[in-house]
Amino acid sequence: MALRKAIVAGNWKMNNLVAEAVALAEEVRSSLGQVRTVDVAVCPTYTSLYAVGKALEGSFIQLGAQDAYIKPSGAFTGEISPQMLLDVGCMWTIIGHSERRHVLGESDALQNAKTRFALSSGLKVMFCIGELLDERKANITNKVLERQLTLGLAGLSPENLENVVIAYEPVWAIGTGETASPEQAEEAHVFIRGWVAKVFGDASASQMRIQYGGSVTPKTVEGLFEKENIDGFLVGGASLKPVDFAVIVQACA
Ligand code: PEP
Repeated sequence: MALRKAIVAGNWKMNNLVAEAVALAEEVRSSLGQVRTVDVAVCPTYTSLYAVGKALEGSFIQLGAQDAYIKPSGAFTGEISPQMLLDVGCMWTIIGHSERRHVLGESDALQNAKTRFALSSGLKVMFCIGELLDERKANITNKVLERQLTLGLAGLSPENLENVVIAYEPVWAIGTGETASPEQAEEAHVFIRGWVAKVFGDASASQMRIQYGGSVTPKTVEGLFEKENIDGFLVGGASLKPVDFAVIVQACA
């Protein structure tokens, strides 16, 4: 059981037309009631952000985007800036999701630029890292995590870090139905917290919230959340089911 305030976020990915996203937001809102002891965010696709933000107005549920570009405006066809996300009510953005890294081929350096620009623009960042199955099998998980952290969070100050949540998401567990065991997840979270302590100091490490992500369900959430270094969850598939999402949030309350 973590000492820090838990944070659970739903990554809706590229799902739902606007009306469906609003309906989902309304269901999430009514299923959750007022769980004040957990920070909760939902991250719809860009086209639904404004409408979902309106549907959540006055609730404690926070709004997040799934990515953000490295410039405020200009000739960057297809991109969306942090300023635009703030304008539609976002507090958060996900950066470095494995689908951006491995499907869209984005580099550690780009995740770093995105993280720095999002933070300097006033967004909070859920910064995702995680190893591929082959990397786990080759026993280089910690090496991969260290590289992603070192390159992705380069140049940040301890003050910047107060607006960052790290999401450990083993790529082999995302969308596969294969959740990491509580022990596997905790081992990675301990490593990540140790890295934060080494680079930013003990105070930053003890405050840092580290989410687990990868096929979290109502069945797997409790075992994971019992672990001392797991401070919440980044939830994909189950966040599209309001009842399942509510169970996951309640497990962290
Ligand atoms: C994710 O995409 O961040 C994720 C954790 O997905 P899922 O829960 O579906 O594995």
